This record gives sequence, C-alpha cells and structure tokens, in this order.
Amino acid sequence: MSEVPGAHGRCLCGGVRYKVRGELREVINCHCERCRRFTGHHMATTSAKLDDISVEDEDALLTWFFPVPEAGYGFCSRCGSSLFWQSSEAAARRAICAGTLDPPTGLRTVQAWWVSQASDYHVRPDLPELETE
Ligand SMILES: [Zn+2]
Ligand SMILES: [Zn+2]
Repeated sequence: MSEVPGAHGRCLCGGVRYKVRGELREVINCHCERCRRFTGHHMATTSAKLDDISVEDEDALLTWFFPVPEAGYGFCSRCGSSLFWQSSEAAARRAICAGTLDPPTGLRTVQAWWVSQASDYHVRPDLPELETE
C-alpha cells in the first residue's frame, strides 16, 4: 500500500475525471479473458475504497458494462478509455486502471493474475502469478 494524497486521474478525452483521497493498493495485472478483451491486453489496476473515489460528473460519460451480473467494467463512453472495475463481492472497493492516474503514482506492479488466460503473444514479466481474483 502506498499513500498518494489527492491522486487524480482521467480518461483520454478528459470527459471522466476522478480523485482518490485514501490509500491506493499496489498494481495487479489481471490477464483473465474478460480483462484481456476489455483492455485489449491486460488490466493493470490499483484499487481504493469506493468511498475514497469521487468521479466528477459521474453520470455524464462514465458507462458500466456487466459481462456477468456480479462484475462491471467502467469506461468513458466518448473516448472508450478503460477506467474501473467493480465487483459485487468486494462492493466496498473499486479497482482503478492504473494508467489513468496522473503520474507519478508511487505504485509498483506486484502480481499477475490469471496468466493462464493471457494470449499467446504475452511476454511474462517476472512477477508472482496467481490464479485468483
Ligand atoms: Zn473520455
Ligand atoms: Zn480480470
């Protein structure tokens, strides 16, 4: 965990902007098929308490897609940027696509999840691998 007071992030077009007040988790790369298809590669996310994340004008462009009822992906409906992942099993937290945070984030990538579902072109970095989410 790394304290990043007042972390800010946004999508490519700037239509969705957010702030995180609290602590951010280190980054986990998720290679599961859903995350792979959603992002076009793997989903590199930090996460924060839902209550600590405030999205400006949340209803304007932030759109949620639910490939299954218990998990949704949040993206900008104008530029298509991947922004968030949210699970009903961990409803108190929200995963944040780490590349949408303004650097420096102070974060490190610490794990790779579901590498068995990565595509065949994927070059495996030297990270601890977990088949879990
Ligand atoms: Zn956008
Ligand atoms: Zn995933």
